[in-house]
Amino acid sequence: MITVEEAQARILESIAPLQTERAPVYTCLDRVLAEPLLADRDLPPFNRSTFDGFAIASQEAANGTRAFSIQATAFAGEPQLALQKPDSCIEIMTGAPVPEGADCVIKIEDTDKDGAVAQLKEGIVAKPSLGVHQQGSDAETGQELLKPGCRLTAKEIAIAASIGKSELLVAKDPSIVIVTTGNELVDIASVPLPHQIRRSNDLSLSLALRSSGYQRVDRHHLADDPEETEAFVADALGKYDVLILAGGVSKGKKDYLPEALQKAGVRKAFQWVSQRPGKPLWFGVSETSPQHPRVFALPGNPVSCFTCLHRYVLPALDLASGLTEKPIHNALLSEPFRFPPPLTLFLPASLHIDKEARCWATPLPFNTSGDFVSVASTDGFLELPATQSEFEKGSALPFYPWSV
Ligand code: AMP
Ligand code: MG
Repeated sequence: MITVEEAQARILESIAPLQTERAPVYTCLDRVLAEPLLADRDLPPFNRSTFDGFAIASQEAANGTRAFSIQATAFAGEPQLALQKPDSCIEIMTGAPVPEGADCVIKIEDTDKDGAVAQLKEGIVAKPSLGVHQQGSDAETGQELLKPGCRLTAKEIAIAASIGKSELLVAKDPSIVIVTTGNELVDIASVPLPHQIRRSNDLSLSLALRSSGYQRVDRHHLADDPEETEAFVADALGKYDVLILAGGVSKGKKDYLPEALQKAGVRKAFQWVSQRPGKPLWFGVSETSPQHPRVFALPGNPVSCFTCLHRYVLPALDLASGLTEKPIHNALLSEPFRFPPPLTLFLPASLHIDKEARCWATPLPFNTSGDFVSVASTDGFLELPATQSEFEKGSALPFYPWSV
């Protein structure tokens, strides 16, 4: 049996970067950026007015002028105008280029308009740059706006749009298959017999993957049958980048996966990890299939496989995608906890932030079944190291949030 840290290290060292591809920007939500994004021109590209008001030369006001004759009107979307005389002004709309010769925009509320003259209200002081969003003040031409390695959300995609990128270089979305196993499991549409249960792992795992940015996820269910298992595994290794198997990996008489994987030429990197839940976790790499698919075989218990997905599979996919590593945040244990076995414990817990902005994690009552009914109210899980058995209230422990 190996430690959690060793299991994680063996998985991560086997991970190869995914290829990259160009994709239309509107399809890039949740993809990982694989190129730096540079400003193609100054942002904003011209001195733009931030108010509806009057553009003037501030020096003229400093010299004592309070009334300015209105020369013209500047609208957003029209070319830059120029002030003809120092004591004239241009009525200006938000977003319009500030006219040549003007360096200040006085808000409409701070002026009195009388026919063709705008008068500064008493107490209003005109200063250089007032009401002007200066050219290049957000970014200068060539400046790096986004680094490779970020997951693209709506705000990053807005930046890409603002610099005219209709396509982006992103990491390929890996093709993944979730394979559930077990004769007792029936489809959600079926009426289960008394000894059967409805299958849920295929949905929980594929939806957690999708909400983490991985969209190309197929699902397949296998009976506990060695020939069917071997045939499916051999075929899937040629089709997918990642196989995630759930169930049939432990020591039961019908747990056929380890043998089927070995027969299909998948090199086992490890099995059995000193953790609860998820001890039977199996990981390997197929060296014979062209794409060298990574194979994760997770125990079938719904909370075990969901936990292993978050602790091992998602970080591995993120690394392969080139995602900049995210820090694992600690949360404070809200009550003392005892766990004597020399195993790392993944303990589902719910979070709350107190008035001092401290983040507390309250564990689920221990030894609840491995089912989602008890875990639904939690936000993720704490990782309690195997090297310790007593944990005081207030212990700072790594917290892994659920993705769904
Ligand atoms: P196994 O790892 O195959 O021994 O399965 C462990 C437990 O998890 C058994 O009680 C299974 O019935 C249950 N289980 C396995 N796969 C699923 C699934 N896809 N959905 C719900 N429960 C499952
Ligand atoms: Mg089974």
